[in-house]
Amino acid sequence: MESSAIALDNQDRRIDHRNAYSEYKSLFEQTRKFNESHDIDCVLEAVAHALKGILDFSAMAYLVKEHFSDDYYIRKDWYLNRKLEKQIFHLEHSGYVDLACESNSVLVYPENGGKNGTHPLLIVPLKTGARVVGALVVQPKIRPLQRSNIDSDLLALLGSQAALALENARLHEDMEVKHHATSSFEAFLEDTIESIPEGLFAVDLEKKFSLFNSSAADLLGVSREQALGSRYDEILSKEVVEFLDRAFNITYTTGEYENEISYSKSADEREIPLGVHTSILKDANEALIGAIAVCRNLSEHQELIHLRRLDKLKDEFLSSVSHELRTPLTGIKSFTEILRDYENHGPEARKGFLDIIVKQTDRLIELIDELLATSQLGSGEFIFEISTVDLNAVFAETLTPLQLMAAEKDISLEARFDKDNQLVQADSKRVAQVFINLIGNAIKFSPAGSTIKVWSEKGADEGLEHERDYLRIGVQDEGAGIPKDYRKTIFEKFTQVCDDPATKPDGSGLGLWISKQIIEELNGNIWVESGDPRGSIFFFTLPISC
Ligand code: ADP
Repeated sequence: MESSAIALDNQDRRIDHRNAYSEYKSLFEQTRKFNESHDIDCVLEAVAHALKGILDFSAMAYLVKEHFSDDYYIRKDWYLNRKLEKQIFHLEHSGYVDLACESNSVLVYPENGGKNGTHPLLIVPLKTGARVVGALVVQPKIRPLQRSNIDSDLLALLGSQAALALENARLHEDMEVKHHATSSFEAFLEDTIESIPEGLFAVDLEKKFSLFNSSAADLLGVSREQALGSRYDEILSKEVVEFLDRAFNITYTTGEYENEISYSKSADEREIPLGVHTSILKDANEALIGAIAVCRNLSEHQELIHLRRLDKLKDEFLSSVSHELRTPLTGIKSFTEILRDYENHGPEARKGFLDIIVKQTDRLIELIDELLATSQLGSGEFIFEISTVDLNAVFAETLTPLQLMAAEKDISLEARFDKDNQLVQADSKRVAQVFINLIGNAIKFSPAGSTIKVWSEKGADEGLEHERDYLRIGVQDEGAGIPKDYRKTIFEKFTQVCDDPATKPDGSGLGLWISKQIIEELNGNIWVESGDPRGSIFFFTLPISC
């Protein structure tokens, strides 16, 4: 390699000292312009211009050293053709560019000035201290070794000044890129934080808000401007401050916390359930600097769950009602066909068939009445006629059909009413409906041979005050009882005790819901307790008539 390239030194120099001084001075003036711009291309144009003052060139390339390898690539060129480009590629691959930079001296390649009269190339290293910035590869218009005014010192000076300016420009460019990247990332982050539907806010250890998005402003009723930089205990209500104090205290010990608070932005706005999830915030050195909280309005979420449940109930209802309607209708159809097709049945058999048809028709009417009552109760069309009602008399009116049902299963019905306290404020028809439903269920879910007790006494449920103002009615059976988990939900529409659809009891799951609506409309309460030792006791209360 060294046989092909030589260092350009002053051996051929014939410049007198005065000329040398003025050339240095003029070059120095020119190199000052290198630093006028932080744009790499502008610096390079100034370098090219200064170079022309030292030697005229026909082509030039600026090679930059890759950051993470020893390779160089052409960043900018002047009048470079394919042939020259290949030559430079060869120079770079053969290590001449590296050699010039390592030795920090201007090299001429090839040493003998090239074949076929081609001009040799000059490699001018660009170095700042030990750091290699790149190199200029120059094709002079005249042969350097034949010309005395090619001064390696001038080229070296140009190279070092150019390297300094190019390095500055590169650092500046890097900073610009980084700054741009940081500010676009910050803008992106800000947009993202602003656009999320959840309320997001962060507080420092002094309870000051350091982040507060528009959704948080919406949920908490405090503007961003008001919140940022303020302490939350200075701008939020006492109730929320207490909640946040507790949430952040737990968060600082456990890392995170989740809870709900019922919150109203102002006295005249309705309360909304607010779900808040907090977690700790740390700085780059893992030191605790505060906490971040995500909050959202849970009412929409709860509404969605409610709608899904209603949708599911509607499906269950349709399948249950179709089944319930189909069963008596099938019975009616079958026995009507038997009566039509077989005329030779005796009168006793005919009566038996007709009894079944009547029973199934009653079941159909009952079911349709329940559906009607459900829709009327839901739309407020259910009319109540409230007066002073003798409870014992109401019970007696319902007794006959219930006793018939009980007798079929060999179930005894025992009733014991408080004779001195049997006048209540109620609607007799509706109370009869509740008796039929509760006692009918007790018969349906009790084993043959068991006993059902019905009684009334003065008293309310545990939660109610003024016990003396209420009459409490109990219906107790010895059946399977109601599992604890179902004791509240069986009073909801279409709910039945069954985990497996195959064991679903007959019925629509509407009777208890209707009973609850009626009793609550009459200012009473209805609930179920576990029987002793088995079965269940349904209670309802009604206000005593004074
Ligand atoms: P239905 O009886 O038409 O299904 P109800 O609303 O009257 O509708 O009752 C809802 C459910 O509550 C019943 O399906 C049954 O699972 C349960 N249930 C009601 N009363 C009793 C009872 N006395 N013993 C056991 N389970 C009962």
